[in-house]
Amino acid sequence: MIVELINTGSELLLGRVLNTNQQWLCRQLAELGCVVSRQVAVPDTGPDIQGAVRESLGRADLVITTGGLGPTSDDLTRDLIARLLGRSLREDPQVLAAIQAYFASRQRAMPESNRVQAMVPEGARVLHNAFGTAPGLALEIKPNPYRAGGEGSWLVMLPGPPRELRPMFTNQVVPLLRTLLPPEARFACHTLRTTGLGESWVQERIAPALTRLVASGLDLGYCARPGQVDVRLSARGPQGESLVAEAEKVVRELLGGSCYGTEDEELEQVIIRLLTARQATLAVAESCTGGCIAHRLTNVPGASAVFLAGLVTYSNAAKQQFLGVPAQTLAAHGAVSEPVARAMAEGARRATGAQYGIGVTGIAGPSGGTPDKPVGTVFIAVASPRETTVERQCNATDRETFKQVTAQQAMDLLRRTLRD
Ligand code: ATP
Repeated sequence: MIVELINTGSELLLGRVLNTNQQWLCRQLAELGCVVSRQVAVPDTGPDIQGAVRESLGRADLVITTGGLGPTSDDLTRDLIARLLGRSLREDPQVLAAIQAYFASRQRAMPESNRVQAMVPEGARVLHNAFGTAPGLALEIKPNPYRAGGEGSWLVMLPGPPRELRPMFTNQVVPLLRTLLPPEARFACHTLRTTGLGESWVQERIAPALTRLVASGLDLGYCARPGQVDVRLSARGPQGESLVAEAEKVVRELLGGSCYGTEDEELEQVIIRLLTARQATLAVAESCTGGCIAHRLTNVPGASAVFLAGLVTYSNAAKQQFLGVPAQTLAAHGAVSEPVARAMAEGARRATGAQYGIGVTGIAGPSGGTPDKPVGTVFIAVASPRETTVERQCNATDRETFKQVTAQQAMDLLRRTLRD
């Protein structure tokens, strides 16, 4: 299936809004086995939108547009496409009732300008918008006048705001796509998320053992991000699912405990789940990560049941005052040292009454390194009711990546402690 994506919106071209719809949709479609073959962003003007749609319809089986379904004067996608295809627009009473109900549920009067969102091109399927007023639209264009052979295409129009677009795509477009895909296009895809291993190391470990499955049609991909490597296993056709399942077994055996999750799961979600299952609590004492660990953990719904406190103790005085790190330890070993990380993790437990404590101290750079402790040096401690474990790492990189990688390593050390 040839799929093309058109993101409309002058704000995308002015650099005012990051085109996250492009990334998200490409990824969702790839996971269904429909790799987007072309993507374009265009301003909100008639010639640009119509030109892009006409061109895409000349090539693709499925064209998806995003944006421009709103009630304002720059929201033109619906009108322009209806005009291009010679389809008349009519007011759909059900859509209008849904928009009126949306405003009524918020105890607000519906502005007259929103009425335009109830206009539906002839023959279009309406995609209900559960999180906004602009419904999406799906049109089958058959025959397609822009394709040389005249074969049909589908055109799907989605609203711009990601919180409206995403559920609409998942709940309404994906089921439609499944009916359009022929059986031989069946696609299996599974992602295993690993942490603590470099990308080349992961590949060297698993690729030789997967040669036979790759020869049978398995597609093996890697995606490296700070502190993390994702292994993507996919295959097409009737054997796809069994190939992927067999490959997963091999990868899990070879990478063992480094696989922390699957699909989109983040390490912080795993930590909150493990703590919740054990009815255990956690406090975090951070220096060089500046609250990054606490931030990530508190992004997870349900964190409040297990996460007690995060202390960002940047100065020596703060480490002493809030965590009870002894002045002699700081003087004898320096703030970036194994004993200080240990004292921070134990101090976090003591100060809050949590069962588990994390302590992190390091040199993010660019200055402050020494021959013994170069920039990037970091000590990470996890204190449990049984013992305290400390790891030394060297994450020599920019400050932002340093924080991400170090946070990942600290959460991973806690994950391993919780699993033991
Ligand atoms: P609305 O009813 O909000 O006007 P719409 O379908 O007309 O919806 P747009 O006006 O194009 O959508 O965009 C509304 C907002 O959605 C933008 O200001 C922007 O914040 C967000 N948005 C639009 N397109 C994208 C995109 N490609 N990626 C990320 N965000 C986007």
